[in-house]
Amino acid sequence: MTFIEVAGTKVDTRHYIGGQRVASAETFTNTSPVDGSFLGEIARGGQTEVDLAVAAANKAFKGWVALGPLGRGELLMKLADLVEANIETLAQLETMDNGSLLRSHRRGVMPRVAMNIRFFADWAINHLAHEKFETRGHTNNISWDPSGVCALITPWNAPLMLATWKIGPALAAGDTVVLKPAEWTPLSASFFADLTKQAGIPDGVFNVVQGYGREAGAALVAHTDIARISFTGSVPTAKVIAKAAADNLTPLSFELGGKSPLLVFEDADLDLAAELAVEQYDNAGQVCLSGTRILVHESVASGFAEKFRERASKLKQGDPRDETTDIGPQIHQVHFDRIKGFVDRAKAEGQTILMGGVPNDELGGLFFRPTLIQPSAGAEIVTQEVFGPVLCMQTFSSDEQALEMANGTEFGLAAVVVSGIREHADKITKELVAGTIWVNCFFVRDLRAPFGGSRKSGIGREGGTWSFDFYADVKNTVVSPNGWKE
Ligand code: NAD
Repeated sequence: MTFIEVAGTKVDTRHYIGGQRVASAETFTNTSPVDGSFLGEIARGGQTEVDLAVAAANKAFKGWVALGPLGRGELLMKLADLVEANIETLAQLETMDNGSLLRSHRRGVMPRVAMNIRFFADWAINHLAHEKFETRGHTNNISWDPSGVCALITPWNAPLMLATWKIGPALAAGDTVVLKPAEWTPLSASFFADLTKQAGIPDGVFNVVQGYGREAGAALVAHTDIARISFTGSVPTAKVIAKAAADNLTPLSFELGGKSPLLVFEDADLDLAAELAVEQYDNAGQVCLSGTRILVHESVASGFAEKFRERASKLKQGDPRDETTDIGPQIHQVHFDRIKGFVDRAKAEGQTILMGGVPNDELGGLFFRPTLIQPSAGAEIVTQEVFGPVLCMQTFSSDEQALEMANGTEFGLAAVVVSGIREHADKITKELVAGTIWVNCFFVRDLRAPFGGSRKSGIGREGGTWSFDFYADVKNTVVSPNGWKE
């Protein structure tokens, strides 16, 4: 069987290489986190398939470059139109594959996939420019040249959306792509490959190799014909990839994990603070940017906690296809067990469980109850990324202490600041270590802005020209006023 049918849509289970479907001798099993149902067997790629895909991408490179930003842009806009025409299909597929809410996929995530592609195509055509400047009469002309084949490795928590943050700028920059999606969520990338074909993207420009990270992923990042590696995933995997990249000195971009603080100051609107804090359970807590460490000024802690509980108790856990559901299942049994392990160890250490802390036995399956823990300083649960519906709450008594706690992990991806006084918020944001800080809001994301993590949360920034600085070879051509025949 080379197709599986999910929510009424046939999805090819093979790789997409050089515009063709390619099978592998071996397969791996894909199950749905929604109900544990067997979805199908997916081609299990390795060195052979990666070699084929990189060769196809290299072969297609010159032709793709020759189209220029306008020619590429036209095809990418068609691709974005096709994504838009298939939002319902993509939303259904992604929900069955990764368990995230169907309503989010329909209204937020899949429209953003189209937007990502459009944005970067437009940026390459209309905005990718640097002002010319003179050095003793010589003109500096800065350009962004296509760099070659990009290896893109992506996680399962927002599979297609996160992939298109990479696919969009890479293709717009004139690079060709080999994408290795996460093995727990292979479907949307495969369906997307069909859309690239329909859009008329030339064969070999976009390729998908399915498979495990330690097989297909490892072969891809170690390949000598790769110009860029862009990876979104966990810190331990990033370390392995960095070692492989070092052998070939392949430039890399890393979007990694976090343990972001959400700071509630004494001057905060507590209703807003509670609203924002409860939002951190979105996607069953499987969001890299989540403000999972709630730090509250001691003078407002009990008022905040009351409002938080009130809101959190209204969250409905259940089938992610149901429009009224707020929290769906975790992605996979392995990940569910990891989350439970963190919480069980916190209990064994004597940390206070304020809410949840157990699987949702009424629902069974992969549902873990939204959890709030009051940990002691330095506890594992408040320093390590859990990547589940598990929040910690701690109190502070001064700005200095708040900052020390907020900046006190190895991560620096995001931070949320809730304060009613602008000068106060300004003072705090200046001192916070984070790639993105939201003040009295959460998850406002503009593709023109830089996105990425400080410390172990990442290497590099993506968004607007920052993306092209990575995917392209940035070139400066210095032209003399002398030596011209005219
Ligand atoms: P992961 O690191 O386990 O896997 C990510 C990808 O890497 C998968 O496709 C996997 O197959 C591949 N991989 C694994 N081993 C590999 C190897 N040796 N060589 C090459 N590829 C390999 O991460 P995950 O569990 O899929 O995702 C969750 C993590 O991703 C969390 O830490 C989360 O914070 C992070 N994340 C970060 C962002 C961000 O933008 N900063 C966004 C989403 C998720």
